[in-house]
Amino acid sequence: MKQDYSNYFENTPDANGNFGEYGGAFLPPQLEGPMKEIHDAYLKISRSADFINELRSIRKHYQGRPTPTYHAKRLSELAGGAEIYLKREDLNHTGAHKLNHCMGEALLAKYMGKKKLIAETGAGQHGVALATAAAYFGLECEIHMGEVDIAKEHPNVVRMKLLGCTVVPVTHGLKTLKEAVDSAFDAYLADPENSIYCIGSVVGPHPFPMMVRDFQKIVGIEAREQFQEMTGNLPDLVTACVGGGSNAMGIFSAFLNDPCEIWGVEPLGRGPGTGEHAATMTYGMPGIIHGFKCYMLQDEQGEPAPVYSIASGLDYPGTGPEHCHLKDEGRVQYTTADDKECLDAFYKLCRYEGIIPALESSHAVAFAMKKAKEMGSGSILVNLSGRGDKDIDFIADNYGFGEEG
Ligand SMILES: *Cc1c(COP(=O)(O)O)cnc(C)c1O
Repeated sequence: MKQDYSNYFENTPDANGNFGEYGGAFLPPQLEGPMKEIHDAYLKISRSADFINELRSIRKHYQGRPTPTYHAKRLSELAGGAEIYLKREDLNHTGAHKLNHCMGEALLAKYMGKKKLIAETGAGQHGVALATAAAYFGLECEIHMGEVDIAKEHPNVVRMKLLGCTVVPVTHGLKTLKEAVDSAFDAYLADPENSIYCIGSVVGPHPFPMMVRDFQKIVGIEAREQFQEMTGNLPDLVTACVGGGSNAMGIFSAFLNDPCEIWGVEPLGRGPGTGEHAATMTYGMPGIIHGFKCYMLQDEQGEPAPVYSIASGLDYPGTGPEHCHLKDEGRVQYTTADDKECLDAFYKLCRYEGIIPALESSHAVAFAMKKAKEMGSGSILVNLSGRGDKDIDFIADNYGFGEEG
């Protein structure tokens, strides 16, 4: 390892939100003021003892943290090589890591005196987590969602409504995530006084990539301590799936200064053709999307290219600026798993461990199984970002119950 990461978080990102050449804030003038307000409030409030103590208490008593780290013995045996350990974010309240940053963002909103949380959602996972946080704090919640996604992700729409959230259908353009982002930004701009925009991953303009990373750091802090307690050692390799990159930054952040390999796994979908995958770091070029610079899948005009993955939580044509920086520095390596490998890992984890994982997380499990065999010995820590309850009907209807079913 070339670099020294012991002071990394003190100067990454820099004061303008740059992670090396990535990140920043490319904003229309009317958003500059509101973003600065969130930035300044975050720096001040998140360091106060009251904020820290309240977040700590929420994590313990409401979210059920710490989530366990688990030695997947049968899966390891099946893979045949390194021992595989799972950080069980699937056991975090609402079934994924997303609530870690949503509770943080909503707590910040409360301290800032905001009354309403606004966000977009694609598959609905971020919407559900944010609606949960809004209900907890007694805040209003408005989630913008493309009409196409509303039809596709019906159970999550029902969840959001049960949690008291207003789901705003977005009817223009392709009626999916990109239009929902624009719509949510417009709604936020109409009333930045009383509302706050809450992003769903380590993406968007500064300060969001930093803020969401900081709220997700708890995953890595817990996992590193638990792993050392269980084994007396550090893992040889740490891995997570990368969509926007929040669960991955959460676990990676604790191991940057350790002698472990770190691998992010992107969705290769149906293959490397344009529109068939969402492997941004592997096939993308630097560009600007949604107010920040990152590796991005682009068409000839430099517009975001269409993306696809079996796991809808991973299909975003950009990725977190910090991942781009860590890739260029050579500290984190990025690879892919395709739909087939993902499904295979999904079924294996169900059958061999009694854990139904999210399709997103299954990408990291697929890589871990492949790598375990290649390594022959040693240990791999996987961030199991979420549970697969949301995916079971889709899988059963389209792919059946696995080879032994
Ligand atoms: C949303 C989601 C992801 C992808 O988001 P990241 O920001 O890349 O972590 C991964 N896993 C699960 C379970 C999700 O819900």
